[in-house]
Amino acid sequence: MSDNNPLLQDWDTPYGLPPFDRLLVSHFEPALLLAMEQHRGELALIGHRKGEATFDNTVAAFDRAGSLLARVAATFYNLTASATGPELQKVQMAMAGPMAAHSSAVYMDQRVFKRLDAVHTQRAGLGFSAEQLRLVERLHLDFVRAGARLAPAQQARYAQVMGQLAKATTRFGQNVLHDESNWHLPLLTEADMAGLPDFVRNSARQAATERGVHGAIITLARSLIVPFLTFSQRRDLREQAWRAWVSRGEHAGEHDNREVARDILRLRNEQARLHGHKSYADHALTDTMAGQHTQVQQLLGEVWPRALAAVERERQALLEAMAAEGQTGEIESWDWRFWAEKVRRAKYALDDAEVKPYFELGRVALAAFDCAQRLFGLSFTHRADIPVYHPDVKAYEVRNAAGAVCGIFLQDNFARPNKRSGAWMSNLRWQHRNGAGDGDGAQLPVILNNNNFARGSAGEPTLLSLDDARTLFHEFGHGLHGLLSDVTYERLSGTQVLRDFVELPSQIFEHWIGETEVLKQHARHWQTNEPIPNELIARLNRARQFNQGYETVRYTASAIVDMAAHELTDAEPPADLCAFEAQVLQQHGLPSGVGLNHRLVHFQHLFASSGYAAGYYVYLWAEVLDADGYDAFKEAGSPFDTTVAQRLLKHIYSSGNSVEPGAAFAAFRGRAPRVEPLLKKRGLLQSA
Ligand SMILES: [Zn+2]
Repeated sequence: MSDNNPLLQDWDTPYGLPPFDRLLVSHFEPALLLAMEQHRGELALIGHRKGEATFDNTVAAFDRAGSLLARVAATFYNLTASATGPELQKVQMAMAGPMAAHSSAVYMDQRVFKRLDAVHTQRAGLGFSAEQLRLVERLHLDFVRAGARLAPAQQARYAQVMGQLAKATTRFGQNVLHDESNWHLPLLTEADMAGLPDFVRNSARQAATERGVHGAIITLARSLIVPFLTFSQRRDLREQAWRAWVSRGEHAGEHDNREVARDILRLRNEQARLHGHKSYADHALTDTMAGQHTQVQQLLGEVWPRALAAVERERQALLEAMAAEGQTGEIESWDWRFWAEKVRRAKYALDDAEVKPYFELGRVALAAFDCAQRLFGLSFTHRADIPVYHPDVKAYEVRNAAGAVCGIFLQDNFARPNKRSGAWMSNLRWQHRNGAGDGDGAQLPVILNNNNFARGSAGEPTLLSLDDARTLFHEFGHGLHGLLSDVTYERLSGTQVLRDFVELPSQIFEHWIGETEVLKQHARHWQTNEPIPNELIARLNRARQFNQGYETVRYTASAIVDMAAHELTDAEPPADLCAFEAQVLQQHGLPSGVGLNHRLVHFQHLFASSGYAAGYYVYLWAEVLDADGYDAFKEAGSPFDTTVAQRLLKHIYSSGNSVEPGAAFAAFRGRAPRVEPLLKKRGLLQSA
């Protein structure tokens, strides 16, 4: 079988990329099964080894194990995200169970854990390098957090809890999807469309076609409901749409999420107790930069009252706009976006049609490459001979300041029907120097960026909004975190860092697309080549802080509710979760008119998987780091200051998870992070 399955042969392509042109969907299942078997064989060799456990024969060997599985699985997951289809989806469904079971079997392997535990116990006296020490501690924690240290009876219960959690979170997501796909607001007459710009009308017609109904409809998809609430002049319809949006998951019957969310909280509490923690937040936060929930509460506490003050200032501006149109009364949750948009237009006169011609996609990509060159000395060369999985994908050879090839970068910028939505960074290979076999064991990173920009029509350029350009820079920042990685062990490479640190390299990179120097050089009109006018840059800069009180209150309220729900220590969650949520918000004084659009009954970040449970705060946490970190360049007097850039490269972009994140930030910044730059960036420092 392996004789004619290209996934299992040596990849004889430039830089050993997957031989995409020879891959068939039918190759994946047998290759994944064989690669898992090979991984188990490698782990059995580690576990059954005679003699003392050492760093080399246990820790480094574990890090090295599973390399075939890593490369086949990375190829598989990138295709399921960016170039999927019914056949591949079938394989994905069929392999989900075996892949998950393989992963738990790896971390429940008692023989391997016993040897790892022995090295871990003696680690202080073995003369390890700092990175070796970090790897021992990281792998040990991976095992412990997966339940390796529990007694056999507890382990059996733990596996049950995790199995039930997987089912409940899947159910939760499916219930939200059900409520989203079963509601729409028909726009029957021109009067129903009042105020809607062409792009909303087009999307509403498109949505009707997709649902097989006549005319135009508003659905609960973010890309439709948010513009509708922003532009519709029909207050009655805005109210209907808002109420439907915030009641997802809260309808009696078979798709009711109220009990499902309680089940998830109960199971998580038990999971935490099995680990010896009082609450799920305690358990989740022990493996974060924040470390404890008091740290998270402190940050939320710094931001919340200032955001409330800013919201009150913004409310006054909205009331003035209402008065100017002869309207009086309260601003309700379904009104805020509508009046805010009126104020925004009046104050900044910003229109996408004026901005977009300065952000042609190819130029924005070049701007990102140029910033990486000026900061870190990287150069990007397009290589048409490197195999890619779709003609849209561009492959680049990346060289470092010394001229040596340091990685391969694949950029896939366009939306396609068989590609998931959103923007993300992923990898085909992580950088490391712990490879097996011949050579020096060094592996070059192969990193991908996916965006979902709508391609310009035939013969027209693809023009981006400033938000789109910022997204490209954001993902490119994650990409650099993968490409610049310079560590020995694969587990510590690239973006495999703690979840409240991982958005620092991406969010800090967004700052450069806003720099006047970068804009004047790269934001040029696609027809005339004229640089973007200073006056337009000034308006864009001023508009950045607009409505930030509202945005910050909405976000922070969701983070507060997340922490409150996961800090509960009782085994049994509150009988009425909606009442609990209302009580938390009332205690914190959520202003009327703002409204919560991530309610617990449909908050997929928290309940459709466990990735962000007790972790919705991470974006704000990382923003503290990026705002304060970027100030180092301002203090040095240049966005490309060489000394600061070198520190950023050494301590943040290249160190992966080889250094504790607090220490890494302090080494870069010369001190612990401060919250003021974030408050200033969001315009929250003015007094009320
Ligand atoms: Zn990100």
